[in-house]
Amino acid sequence: MGGFFLFLICYLITYALKHIKSHPLRVWPHYCRVALLLTCSWLTFDGLSHSASARPQALVCVEHVWCDIAQQIGGNALHTTVLITASGLDPHHLRPTPSLARTLSQADAVLLNGATYDDWALSLIPQNVHLFNMAQQEGNWRPGDDPHLFFDPKIVRHAAFNIAQWLITKDPDHATEIKGRLDQFTEQTQKILIRLDHLKAHFQGTTIAITEPAGERLLSYAGLTIVDRPWALAVMNENGISARDTASLEENITQHKIRFLLVNPTVMAPEVETIKTLANAHHIPTIELGENLPTGQSWQGWMNHTLDDIEHALNRTALTP
Ligand SMILES: [Zn+2]
Repeated sequence: MGGFFLFLICYLITYALKHIKSHPLRVWPHYCRVALLLTCSWLTFDGLSHSASARPQALVCVEHVWCDIAQQIGGNALHTTVLITASGLDPHHLRPTPSLARTLSQADAVLLNGATYDDWALSLIPQNVHLFNMAQQEGNWRPGDDPHLFFDPKIVRHAAFNIAQWLITKDPDHATEIKGRLDQFTEQTQKILIRLDHLKAHFQGTTIAITEPAGERLLSYAGLTIVDRPWALAVMNENGISARDTASLEENITQHKIRFLLVNPTVMAPEVETIKTLANAHHIPTIELGENLPTGQSWQGWMNHTLDDIEHALNRTALTP
Protein backbone atom coordinates (compact mmCIF):
# COMPACT_ATOMS: atom_id res chain seq x y z
CA MET A 1 0.00 0.00 0.00
CA GLY A 2 2.79 2.43 0.99
CA GLY A 3 4.74 1.38 -2.12
CA PHE A 4 1.80 2.16 -4.41
CA PHE A 5 1.37 5.57 -2.78
CA LEU A 6 5.05 6.44 -3.34
CA PHE A 7 4.82 5.31 -6.96
CA LEU A 8 1.79 7.61 -7.42
CA ILE A 9 3.74 10.56 -6.03
CA CYS A 10 6.61 9.82 -8.47
CA TYR A 11 4.10 9.62 -11.33
CA LEU A 12 2.49 12.92 -10.40
CA ILE A 13 5.88 14.68 -10.06
CA THR A 14 6.92 13.43 -13.49
CA TYR A 15 3.70 14.11 -15.39
CA ALA A 16 2.18 17.03 -13.52
CA LEU A 17 5.34 19.13 -13.86
CA LYS A 18 5.02 19.18 -17.66
CA HIS A 19 1.86 21.24 -17.31
CA ILE A 20 3.73 24.09 -15.62
CA LYS A 21 4.47 26.47 -18.46
CA SER A 22 7.94 27.61 -17.42
CA HIS A 23 9.12 24.16 -16.23
CA PRO A 24 11.90 22.60 -18.37
CA LEU A 25 10.08 19.23 -18.28
CA ARG A 26 7.43 20.70 -20.53
CA VAL A 27 9.79 20.34 -23.47
CA TRP A 28 11.39 17.02 -22.41
CA PRO A 29 10.74 14.12 -24.73
CA HIS A 30 8.57 11.24 -23.52
CA TYR A 31 11.49 8.83 -22.87
CA CYS A 32 13.13 11.37 -20.54
CA ARG A 33 9.98 11.54 -18.46
CA VAL A 34 9.79 7.74 -18.31
CA ALA A 35 13.42 7.66 -17.17
CA LEU A 36 12.68 10.24 -14.47
CA LEU A 37 9.66 8.24 -13.31
CA LEU A 38 11.71 5.03 -13.06
CA THR A 39 14.61 6.73 -11.23
CA CYS A 40 12.24 8.37 -8.76
CA SER A 41 10.44 5.04 -8.13
CA TRP A 42 13.70 3.13 -7.73
CA LEU A 43 15.06 5.65 -5.22
CA THR A 44 11.90 5.60 -3.08
CA PHE A 45 11.56 1.79 -3.10
CA ASP A 46 15.25 1.37 -2.31
CA GLY A 47 14.94 3.82 0.57
CA LEU A 48 11.84 1.99 1.79
CA SER A 49 13.51 -1.44 1.78
CA HIS A 50 16.61 -0.11 3.58
CA SER A 51 14.60 1.54 6.31
CA ALA A 52 12.71 -1.77 6.78
CA SER A 53 15.92 -3.80 7.19
CA ALA A 54 17.40 -1.25 9.59
CA ARG A 55 14.66 -1.97 12.13
CA PRO A 56 15.85 -4.50 14.73
CA GLN A 57 14.11 -7.87 14.43
CA ALA A 58 11.74 -8.59 17.32
CA LEU A 59 12.41 -11.94 19.02
CA VAL A 60 10.29 -13.32 21.88
CA CYS A 61 11.52 -16.10 24.20
CA VAL A 62 9.69 -17.75 27.08
CA GLU A 63 12.91 -18.15 29.11
CA HIS A 64 15.44 -15.41 29.76
CA VAL A 65 18.39 -17.71 29.09
CA TRP A 66 17.46 -18.24 25.41
CA CYS A 67 16.99 -14.50 24.83
CA ASP A 68 20.36 -13.82 26.47
CA ILE A 69 22.03 -16.14 23.94
CA ALA A 70 20.09 -14.61 21.02
CA GLN A 71 20.85 -11.04 22.12
CA GLN A 72 24.57 -11.78 22.32
CA ILE A 73 24.47 -12.81 18.65
CA GLY A 74 22.02 -10.16 17.42
CA GLY A 75 23.41 -7.07 19.16
CA ASN A 76 21.59 -3.95 17.96
CA ALA A 77 20.07 -5.84 15.01
CA LEU A 78 17.81 -7.68 17.47
CA HIS A 79 15.27 -6.65 20.07
CA THR A 80 14.36 -9.41 22.55
CA THR A 81 11.38 -9.81 24.89
CA VAL A 82 11.23 -12.45 27.65
CA LEU A 83 7.88 -13.79 28.81
CA ILE A 84 8.97 -15.22 32.18
CA THR A 85 10.09 -12.21 34.15
CA ALA A 86 9.85 -13.50 37.74
CA SER A 87 13.01 -15.46 38.60
CA GLY A 88 11.28 -17.92 40.96
CA LEU A 89 8.73 -19.01 38.35
CA ASP A 90 8.82 -22.62 37.22
CA PRO A 91 8.62 -22.65 33.40
CA HIS A 92 7.26 -26.23 33.40
CA HIS A 93 4.00 -25.12 34.95
CA LEU A 94 3.41 -21.68 33.45
CA ARG A 95 -0.08 -21.00 32.06
CA PRO A 96 -0.48 -18.45 29.23
CA THR A 97 -2.35 -15.16 29.71
CA PRO A 98 -3.92 -13.00 26.93
CA SER A 99 -1.05 -10.52 27.23
CA LEU A 100 1.54 -13.31 26.68
CA ALA A 101 -0.45 -14.43 23.63
CA ARG A 102 -0.45 -10.88 22.24
CA THR A 103 3.32 -10.51 22.69
CA LEU A 104 3.92 -13.82 20.88
CA SER A 105 1.69 -12.86 17.95
CA GLN A 106 3.47 -9.52 17.40
CA ALA A 107 6.99 -10.97 17.14
CA ASP A 108 9.10 -11.44 13.99
CA ALA A 109 10.36 -14.67 15.56
CA VAL A 110 9.81 -16.79 18.67
CA LEU A 111 12.46 -18.95 20.32
CA LEU A 112 11.13 -21.88 22.33
CA ASN A 113 12.96 -24.54 24.31
CA GLY A 114 10.28 -27.06 23.29
CA ALA A 115 10.50 -30.60 24.69
CA THR A 116 7.25 -29.98 26.67
CA TYR A 117 9.05 -27.25 28.63
CA ASP A 118 7.16 -24.32 27.07
CA ASP A 119 5.05 -26.07 24.44
CA TRP A 120 1.92 -24.17 25.58
CA ALA A 121 3.26 -21.27 23.48
CA LEU A 122 3.18 -23.28 20.23
CA SER A 123 -0.55 -22.82 19.62
CA LEU A 124 -0.23 -19.05 20.14
CA ILE A 125 2.36 -18.42 17.41
CA PRO A 126 0.90 -17.25 14.08
CA GLN A 127 2.05 -18.90 10.81
CA ASN A 128 3.97 -15.81 9.64
CA VAL A 129 6.16 -15.68 12.77
CA HIS A 130 9.49 -17.53 12.40
CA LEU A 131 9.83 -20.28 15.01
CA PHE A 132 13.05 -21.53 16.60
CA ASN A 133 12.13 -24.69 18.50
CA MET A 134 15.23 -26.11 20.16
CA ALA A 135 13.79 -29.61 20.64
CA GLN A 136 12.79 -29.74 16.97
CA GLN A 137 16.17 -28.33 15.95
CA GLU A 138 17.92 -31.29 17.59
CA GLY A 139 15.26 -33.78 16.55
CA ASN A 140 16.25 -36.53 18.97
CA TRP A 141 14.47 -35.40 22.14
CA ARG A 142 12.11 -38.08 23.50
CA PRO A 143 9.63 -37.93 26.42
CA GLY A 144 11.54 -38.87 29.56
CA ASP A 145 14.71 -37.08 28.37
CA ASP A 146 15.89 -34.01 30.26
CA PRO A 147 14.01 -31.01 28.74
CA HIS A 148 16.38 -28.27 30.02
CA LEU A 149 18.17 -27.98 26.67
CA PHE A 150 19.99 -24.72 27.56
CA PHE A 151 22.38 -26.74 29.77
CA ASP A 152 23.71 -28.46 26.64
CA PRO A 153 26.57 -26.36 25.16
CA LYS A 154 26.34 -28.11 21.77
CA ILE A 155 22.60 -27.36 21.46
CA VAL A 156 23.26 -23.75 22.51
CA ARG A 157 26.07 -23.43 19.93
CA HIS A 158 23.75 -24.78 17.24
CA ALA A 159 20.99 -22.35 18.32
CA ALA A 160 23.40 -19.40 18.14
CA PHE A 161 24.38 -20.42 14.60
CA ASN A 162 20.72 -20.67 13.49
CA ILE A 163 19.86 -17.28 15.01
CA ALA A 164 22.83 -15.68 13.22
CA GLN A 165 21.83 -17.26 9.91
CA TRP A 166 18.23 -16.02 10.22
CA LEU A 167 19.31 -12.51 11.21
CA ILE A 168 21.73 -12.25 8.30
CA THR A 169 18.96 -13.09 5.81
CA LYS A 170 16.75 -10.45 7.45
CA ASP A 171 19.45 -7.82 7.83
CA PRO A 172 22.37 -8.46 5.41
CA ASP A 173 23.78 -4.98 6.10
CA HIS A 174 24.85 -6.18 9.58
CA ALA A 175 26.21 -9.56 8.45
CA THR A 176 29.85 -8.80 9.40
CA GLU A 177 28.99 -7.74 12.95
CA ILE A 178 26.62 -10.70 13.44
CA LYS A 179 29.29 -13.17 12.21
CA GLY A 180 31.86 -11.54 14.49
CA ARG A 181 29.61 -11.95 17.55
CA LEU A 182 28.80 -15.54 16.58
CA ASP A 183 32.54 -16.35 16.33
CA GLN A 184 33.16 -14.87 19.78
CA PHE A 185 30.24 -16.78 21.31
CA THR A 186 31.30 -20.05 19.65
CA GLU A 187 34.80 -19.62 21.04
CA GLN A 188 33.46 -19.11 24.59
CA THR A 189 31.20 -22.16 24.21
CA GLN A 190 34.20 -24.18 23.05
CA LYS A 191 36.06 -23.20 26.25
CA ILE A 192 33.13 -24.56 28.31
CA LEU A 193 33.24 -27.84 26.36
CA ILE A 194 37.00 -28.06 27.01
CA ARG A 195 36.38 -27.58 30.76
CA LEU A 196 33.78 -30.36 30.62
CA ASP A 197 36.23 -32.66 28.81
CA HIS A 198 38.79 -31.91 31.48
CA LEU A 199 36.32 -32.84 34.23
CA LYS A 200 35.45 -36.03 32.37
CA ALA A 201 39.12 -37.00 32.14
CA HIS A 202 39.41 -36.78 35.94
CA PHE A 203 35.98 -37.77 37.25
CA GLN A 204 34.28 -40.04 34.71
CA GLY A 205 31.84 -42.38 36.46
CA THR A 206 31.85 -40.41 39.72
CA THR A 207 28.41 -40.72 41.32
CA ILE A 208 26.30 -37.71 42.28
CA ALA A 209 22.57 -37.00 42.84
CA ILE A 210 20.16 -34.32 41.65
CA THR A 211 16.81 -33.07 42.98
CA GLU A 212 15.43 -32.19 39.51
CA PRO A 213 16.86 -32.80 36.00
CA ALA A 214 18.03 -29.16 35.46
CA GLY A 215 21.76 -29.37 34.77
CA GLU A 216 21.69 -33.07 33.89
CA ARG A 217 23.13 -32.41 30.42
CA LEU A 218 26.08 -30.49 31.83
CA LEU A 219 26.77 -33.30 34.32
CA SER A 220 26.69 -35.95 31.63
CA TYR A 221 29.21 -33.98 29.48
CA ALA A 222 31.41 -34.06 32.60
CA GLY A 223 31.05 -37.86 32.68
CA LEU A 224 29.33 -37.87 36.08
CA THR A 225 26.82 -40.61 36.90
CA ILE A 226 23.45 -39.57 38.34
CA VAL A 227 22.21 -42.17 40.83
CA ASP A 228 18.62 -40.90 41.22
CA ARG A 229 17.41 -40.06 37.72
CA PRO A 230 13.87 -41.57 38.05
CA TRP A 231 13.43 -39.84 41.43
CA ALA A 232 14.44 -36.42 40.00
CA LEU A 233 12.21 -36.91 36.96
CA ALA A 234 9.23 -37.69 39.21
CA VAL A 235 9.96 -34.51 41.20
CA MET A 236 9.97 -32.48 37.97
CA ASN A 237 6.74 -34.02 36.70
CA GLU A 238 5.14 -33.70 40.14
CA ASN A 239 3.91 -37.25 39.89
CA GLY A 240 4.53 -40.45 41.76
CA ILE A 241 7.83 -40.20 43.62
CA SER A 242 8.29 -43.85 44.50
CA ALA A 243 9.11 -44.79 48.09
CA ARG A 244 11.70 -47.28 46.80
CA ASP A 245 13.51 -44.54 44.80
CA THR A 246 13.48 -42.26 47.86
CA ALA A 247 14.90 -45.04 50.04
CA SER A 248 17.64 -45.72 47.50
CA LEU A 249 18.58 -41.99 47.34
CA GLU A 250 18.64 -41.79 51.14
CA GLU A 251 20.96 -44.77 51.27
CA ASN A 252 23.28 -43.13 48.73
CA ILE A 253 23.47 -40.11 51.02
CA THR A 254 23.85 -41.85 54.38
CA GLN A 255 26.49 -44.22 53.02
CA HIS A 256 28.40 -41.38 51.29
CA LYS A 257 28.02 -42.97 47.88
CA ILE A 258 27.54 -39.57 46.19
CA ARG A 259 30.06 -36.76 45.98
CA PHE A 260 27.50 -33.94 45.86
CA LEU A 261 23.79 -33.18 45.60
CA LEU A 262 22.66 -30.75 42.88
CA VAL A 263 19.62 -28.83 44.16
CA ASN A 264 17.15 -26.93 42.00
CA PRO A 265 15.81 -24.13 44.27
CA THR A 266 12.87 -23.47 41.89
CA VAL A 267 11.26 -26.75 42.95
CA MET A 268 9.53 -26.59 46.32
CA ALA A 269 8.54 -30.10 47.37
CA PRO A 270 8.63 -31.56 50.90
CA GLU A 271 10.50 -34.63 49.55
CA VAL A 272 13.28 -32.36 48.25
CA GLU A 273 13.52 -30.55 51.59
CA THR A 274 13.92 -33.89 53.39
CA ILE A 275 16.72 -34.97 51.03
CA LYS A 276 18.52 -31.61 51.41
CA THR A 277 18.37 -31.88 55.20
CA LEU A 278 19.70 -35.44 55.07
CA ALA A 279 22.57 -34.39 52.77
CA ASN A 280 23.52 -31.55 55.13
CA ALA A 281 23.42 -33.88 58.14
CA HIS A 282 25.82 -36.25 56.36
CA HIS A 283 28.13 -33.46 55.09
CA ILE A 284 27.39 -34.13 51.44
CA PRO A 285 28.07 -30.86 49.59
CA THR A 286 25.02 -29.31 47.94
CA ILE A 287 25.20 -27.14 44.84
CA GLU A 288 22.31 -24.86 43.95
CA LEU A 289 21.43 -24.75 40.26
CA GLY A 290 18.11 -23.24 39.22
CA GLU A 291 16.62 -23.17 35.76
CA ASN A 292 16.30 -19.39 35.37
CA LEU A 293 19.35 -17.39 34.28
CA PRO A 294 20.57 -15.57 37.42
CA THR A 295 20.15 -11.78 37.22
CA GLY A 296 23.10 -10.00 35.69
CA GLN A 297 24.72 -13.16 34.32
CA SER A 298 25.27 -14.28 30.75
CA TRP A 299 24.70 -17.89 29.70
CA GLN A 300 28.47 -18.50 29.57
CA GLY A 301 28.97 -16.85 32.98
CA TRP A 302 26.25 -19.07 34.44
CA MET A 303 27.77 -22.27 33.01
CA ASN A 304 31.30 -21.36 34.12
CA HIS A 305 30.07 -20.45 37.60
CA THR A 306 28.28 -23.82 37.84
CA LEU A 307 31.42 -25.65 36.68
CA ASP A 308 33.41 -23.80 39.37
CA ASP A 309 30.92 -25.07 41.99
CA ILE A 310 31.08 -28.64 40.63
CA GLU A 311 34.90 -28.65 40.57
CA HIS A 312 34.98 -27.25 44.06
CA ALA A 313 32.59 -29.92 45.42
CA LEU A 314 34.48 -32.74 43.68
CA ASN A 315 37.85 -31.56 44.95
CA ARG A 316 36.46 -31.08 48.45
CA THR A 317 35.02 -34.58 48.67
CA ALA A 318 38.15 -36.06 47.10
CA LEU A 319 40.01 -35.08 50.28
CA THR A 320 37.50 -36.87 52.52
CA PRO A 321 38.99 -40.20 53.71
ZN1 LIG B 1 13.01 -27.93 35.54
